[in-house]
Amino acid sequence: KVRVRYAPSPTGYLHIGNTRTALFNWLFARHFGGEFIVRIEDTDTSRNIEDGEESQFDNLNWLGLDWDESPRNPGKYGPYRQSERLDIYKRYIQELLDRDLAYYSYKTSEELDAEREAQVAAKQAPHYVYEYEGMSGEEIKAAQEAAQAKGLPAVVRFRVPKDKLYAWQDLVKGHVEIGSEQIGGDWVIQKADGMPTYNFAVVVDDHLMEISHVLRGDEHVSNTPKQLMIYDAFDWEAPVYGHMTLILNAETGKKLSKRDNNVIAFISQYRSLGYLPEAMLNFISLLGWSPVGEKEIFTKKQLIKMFDPERLSKSPAKFDNKKLEWVNNQWVKKIDEGVLFDKLITELIDAKLITPDELTTEKLQWVRRVMALHQDGISYTSQIVPLVKPVFFDLTAKDDLGSDSMDWMEKDYVPSLLKRWIEMLEAMPVFDAGSIVASIRSLQNEMDVKGRDLWMPLRISASRVNEGPNLGDVMELLGREASIKNIKEFI
Ligand code: GLU
Repeated sequence: KVRVRYAPSPTGYLHIGNTRTALFNWLFARHFGGEFIVRIEDTDTSRNIEDGEESQFDNLNWLGLDWDESPRNPGKYGPYRQSERLDIYKRYIQELLDRDLAYYSYKTSEELDAEREAQVAAKQAPHYVYEYEGMSGEEIKAAQEAAQAKGLPAVVRFRVPKDKLYAWQDLVKGHVEIGSEQIGGDWVIQKADGMPTYNFAVVVDDHLMEISHVLRGDEHVSNTPKQLMIYDAFDWEAPVYGHMTLILNAETGKKLSKRDNNVIAFISQYRSLGYLPEAMLNFISLLGWSPVGEKEIFTKKQLIKMFDPERLSKSPAKFDNKKLEWVNNQWVKKIDEGVLFDKLITELIDAKLITPDELTTEKLQWVRRVMALHQDGISYTSQIVPLVKPVFFDLTAKDDLGSDSMDWMEKDYVPSLLKRWIEMLEAMPVFDAGSIVASIRSLQNEMDVKGRDLWMPLRISASRVNEGPNLGDVMELLGREASIKNIKEFI
């Protein structure tokens, strides 16, 4: 039975990297008809943040990643918060102590620091040096009692087997092996405050929760041998591991970081900008995984059907803002117009461009036509506001046009061009896009101006911006009166 988990520490919010982990585990579970579990790894109490857990669930939910078991809907493998499982870890740590596979260690942090410094100076890899070397069982006991009497803090260390090779068949990386001498010596499984360490607790939990596959980030590869030795110690069967490649920032070529300032890190930020959850999920699914074929736009359902762990990529994924915008734009064009327009209208209301009570049926219809005209040009919904505000809602004053636009308007031929155009616009039997575009063609013949020399002054004067959708459509929606009033200011 496939059982996978997403195991965030509530020390931070859902960001691109951990979303990818959650998504691939979720796809794995859904594709194989298994279960997706969310477990909260909150034993690093000093680093937990107040709304860390809450916001993880909230944002997973927004993305549409549903979970089968979690602290909020416990199944029979609970508790699902590590802080509520301390008795369980204690029991297993005691078992290792009793079997002498682990021991109390009293080396102080000063001693450990000095040890490390000496090793680095001697060009050795830093490692813990066994503090009871050459001592008999009796002597060890005496040393421990003396340390305890002095009130020294005690951690529990796991005895790393000598000269053992830890190997596994990684779903992504293929065969991986790491020797026990590379571990850095006996490592801590229980901290001085009594909390288990991540590498210990994760094994107990994955085993007891019957996790079958662990898909996680590349940064955990070096943890895997530590975890495998705990499985060995208890004679448990380890899950299948898959370590997904790094995500690189396409612009810097370096590992993507929450602190990169050219990339939006957190899902909640995408959410408040009005990115569509379907689009974000689609974009993130392409970070380190690729389907067969050229197509790149997929619904959740399609992703579930197509997901194939064999196609998790071995080379680093690239987070590319252009691709992000492209995927999101594809989705804006594709999703149900009703859903999109509701979101866009909410943006307009939030930006105070309209109020809900002025939305009569007629006005609503007009707003929807304005939205439809701009839909193809946006990647997320809050982009609508700066596009439509200066043109349709809060007409930019002539004096606020940028210098680029003003340069166009100050050309000699412009006033006579605009005067003639107004005559044509006034004479039009029906003020619609087709007639407006036709009038511009006549102007071109009559006045012998063409290309940008013709279009820029017309567009800027009528719509107050220097780019946008078809000018005929824009002016039709603005209406004759407002369009002519705009143009007149430049004569
Ligand atoms: N809590 C760990 C993390 O956030 C989970 C790692 C794992 O999947 O084993 O990195």
